[in-house]
Amino acid sequence: MKYAIVTGASRGIGKAVALKLSTLGYHILINYQSNDAEASKTKTEIDVAGGEASLLKFDVSNRQEVEASLTGWLNQNPDAYIEILVNNAGIKDDVLMMWMTDQQWDSVIDTNLNSFFYVTRTILNRMLVQKYGRIINMVSLSGLRGLPGQMNYSAAKSGVIGATKVLAQEVARRGITVNAIAPGFIKTDMTKDLNEKDLKSMIPLQRFGTPEEVADLTAFIASNKASYITGQTISINGGIY
Ligand code: NAP
Repeated sequence: MKYAIVTGASRGIGKAVALKLSTLGYHILINYQSNDAEASKTKTEIDVAGGEASLLKFDVSNRQEVEASLTGWLNQNPDAYIEILVNNAGIKDDVLMMWMTDQQWDSVIDTNLNSFFYVTRTILNRMLVQKYGRIINMVSLSGLRGLPGQMNYSAAKSGVIGATKVLAQEVARRGITVNAIAPGFIKTDMTKDLNEKDLKSMIPLQRFGTPEEVADLTAFIASNKASYITGQTISINGGIY
């Protein structure tokens, strides 16, 4: 059985990615932080559709938790072939810089940027030994363009874009590709307080995207068909520059 680990797979984009990858025959490791009910729903939907999934609850922003949980799972499953890692878990906490607290800076950097380092280095060795892997990092339009009120979030996502470029070069010879996906406005809990009617005038395609549209792109990048794409940041945002 081939495995795919998706962080933040209890809701939103991560859930759609988990469901999509399960239809391609992967056993999905569903990571999440706290929402047991939604994580169980993701697993049930995969089970009902005939797929396989396990829950792996840990806080991606906590170095010790990531190591204990992921290393523990790897030790218990020494033969598991982890083909895909989707670093998707993320949060935002928007405020202008002059009012940003240490806590707002730290939590957004820890969850969106440091998590990439903690989770990826734990899984990377298995992929290096396998000589195959797909690492996909969910970043954001905000990390490419920089959006006022999101300095912590834009900085974190830009950091992951830089890390994507470097890691892609470091592991390419081992058959591992590393790419980032940069969504624009996607309909999830993260954007539920935004008014689509007001914002759609800045989107050429005149609407928010769906988690399933991001999942389809993720599945392509995770597939063999994308073997010559690495170190890239691919936008999916309805045409915003
Ligand atoms: P969402 O609906 O708010 O879901 C967030 C997911 O991340 C949940 O599964 C949540 O788990 C998990 N999570 C949050 N903090 C975590 C932590 N410390 N440890 C483990 N899991 C954690 O978010 P989304 O809109 O799907 O966003 C997914 C990714 O896409 C994020 O990286 C986000 O920055 C990026 N993105 C989203 C948009 C958009 O418009 N929605 C646009 C650009 C980029 P619980 O359920 O347990 O809380």
